[in-house]
Amino acid sequence: MSRTLRSIFFVVLLLVLSGSVSAQDADGGGKLCGTLSGAASSRSLDGTGGIYMTSRGTLRVLIVFASFPDDETPHPYWPAHGPPLFMQQFIDPDTTSNSQASYNLTNYFHQMSLGQFHVVGEAVWVEMTHSQLEYWNNGFGRANLNALQERVDPLVDFSMYDGWTKEANYTHTNVPDGQVDMIIMVWRTTMWEFLGEASLGYKPGFLADGKRIEMGFPERIAFPLGSGVTCKYPYNDRPYQAMQTMAHELGHWLLGGPHPYSTTIFGKHAYWGLLCNGQRVASCANAYERERLGWIDVPEIQPDSNLTFTDYLSTGVAYKYHPANGYPFEYFYMENHQRLSVFDDVTANSADKGIWVLHQKGPYMEMDDLRIRPSDGNWNWENPGVTTQCFSQGLPVFKRGVPKTLTGESHRDQIPTPTSLVNWMFVFKNPEGELNCGAFFRGERFVGAFSADVSPVFSPYSNPNSNTWDNQATPFSFEIVDEIDGVVTVRYNSNQLDAAPARRYLGRDPTVQDTLSGWISLAWGAQWPEGQNLEADVNWSELQRQIGDNGVWITMYVGQATQWRDGSIAYDTSGAIPVLFRSRVRDAQGKYSAWSNIHRTTMVNPNGTEEQRNEVSNRYSLEPNYPNPFNPSTKIVYRVPSLAAGQAGQEFVELRVFDVLGREVATLVDGVKEPGEYSVAFDATGLASGVYFYRLTAGGFTTTRRMIVVK
Ligand SMILES: [Zn+2]
Repeated sequence: MSRTLRSIFFVVLLLVLSGSVSAQDADGGGKLCGTLSGAASSRSLDGTGGIYMTSRGTLRVLIVFASFPDDETPHPYWPAHGPPLFMQQFIDPDTTSNSQASYNLTNYFHQMSLGQFHVVGEAVWVEMTHSQLEYWNNGFGRANLNALQERVDPLVDFSMYDGWTKEANYTHTNVPDGQVDMIIMVWRTTMWEFLGEASLGYKPGFLADGKRIEMGFPERIAFPLGSGVTCKYPYNDRPYQAMQTMAHELGHWLLGGPHPYSTTIFGKHAYWGLLCNGQRVASCANAYERERLGWIDVPEIQPDSNLTFTDYLSTGVAYKYHPANGYPFEYFYMENHQRLSVFDDVTANSADKGIWVLHQKGPYMEMDDLRIRPSDGNWNWENPGVTTQCFSQGLPVFKRGVPKTLTGESHRDQIPTPTSLVNWMFVFKNPEGELNCGAFFRGERFVGAFSADVSPVFSPYSNPNSNTWDNQATPFSFEIVDEIDGVVTVRYNSNQLDAAPARRYLGRDPTVQDTLSGWISLAWGAQWPEGQNLEADVNWSELQRQIGDNGVWITMYVGQATQWRDGSIAYDTSGAIPVLFRSRVRDAQGKYSAWSNIHRTTMVNPNGTEEQRNEVSNRYSLEPNYPNPFNPSTKIVYRVPSLAAGQAGQEFVELRVFDVLGREVATLVDGVKEPGEYSVAFDATGLASGVYFYRLTAGGFTTTRRMIVVK
């Protein structure tokens, strides 16, 4: 298959699957946005604004909805031979209406610009004279020309739409220049090649109501003048999607022709950018764009101070970090999305709120210069096959493997597969082995925001980490230190080790080959080839286990190791009883990481029911006490095994505590015990700080562990 054919196949499929994630979104069109590639439109942020049209003040815009006399295709939001539903709500007539509709362009730009850019105007509907075939043969430029001259001119006074003069790129004055500023043509069709296009189609300009209407896009040298853009409103688009397409095309007039991402199958990342982006993953303008257009200031994050992030979209607060060893204009942008605005749709998971990190290689080019760094991390995704269970077509199944911090993909990226042209995640196999269908590249059911409780640290040690675009280490780390009512306080320490440790990945230890059945080996350090480094000041780890999905977490290990091996229950990946593990670490300052991912496995219960699981063990065991160190009390768990068949029923058990000189300071258990798991509290009130030992003796079994009282 040729490169071009592959691209078209991919884009069509993506259109089918994106949006509302329904096969009904099928759009016969090809590319999403027809703007041609060009040089990067960048300049110093000392001067800001829109390139080809103003980004401030009041811009009067004409929206023309146009349909064909022979088009009877049903459209839920646009009846044949009439105006689209809610036509007058797509744009406000003036700056005082303040419509709140989610598909209102005035509302959209009002919110994105924090009240500095007023896009107002009117919307009209016209039906064409000629058939669809006429324009199929002659293209959208011919259709736009025909519609504007024959149908729109009698309805509209074009002199109302000349308010601005373009003096130079980025420089606009609020006086008429004899040329119409902006017409948005919206077609009830799928037959144009692009979902949107930043021009009116490059026909020769013409005069109407004493004003010139030009049909190019100013970035193209051959056709330097323009008066509008062209959009489709396909038969299954919702009004919100139609507005996203309009905003994206206006975005090209504001920010330039190139996209910050590649539109081909070879592009890599899903993101939000260029206002509503071409794939309509989200409609929110990102911090670079708002900064670029002069709508917000984005200060550089300063070390050793606390920074308060209020809601990004409604207050415009954002910060950025420039890695000194990165590209000249490389930045991490940080935005706090609390989803207070209808336009804050940066993720399909409505519960996923907090700090989002955008990593931008440089000013926008037609390439993958912008990437989301979701807190969920980068992974080595496995492809256990292809399925037709989702969206009625063959799609690759994605399953999360081990961490691949440096070069792996996140759930927001395209993920190359060896077997499929589709490399967005539409089918996800969860740790329980179930298939899930969704637009996971839009964040559905995944977590991307950094938040106080789940993932508070972004650093050289986290997954994803704060490396440069080219994977060079940077000293940058941030830690969420507070979060109250959606206001997030972030600290950036000049010494990364001052922050809490990043949360760990917990999984089967790749450095241990278990040969004994019924045993498990886990690790949460840097055991994976592209796993996470461990902070140098981490000196303590804790591993907890839960048996059954409704069990309680019990500490199984505390100490300096980041590996653990156990055979105290019958681990078996084909067992019926879930066994869950989680871990965390602590550093020399006493700061804890967040809990790791939950690692799931199963166990076999020879007695068949979960309730009897305490009898599974055929060994005595004495678990590490928790907490440790402690003051004044701690908990000690021990296990008395089932007896062999025919043996008498009970065992004599002793659990005693000794100081470092071997003097007994407490007797916790001294008597017969049934088989099972027991938890005993030990209170050190009255004892001095220091090291103590506790010893379990039963049925010929003796083991001793150490604990520390710190007062
Ligand atoms: Zn575009």
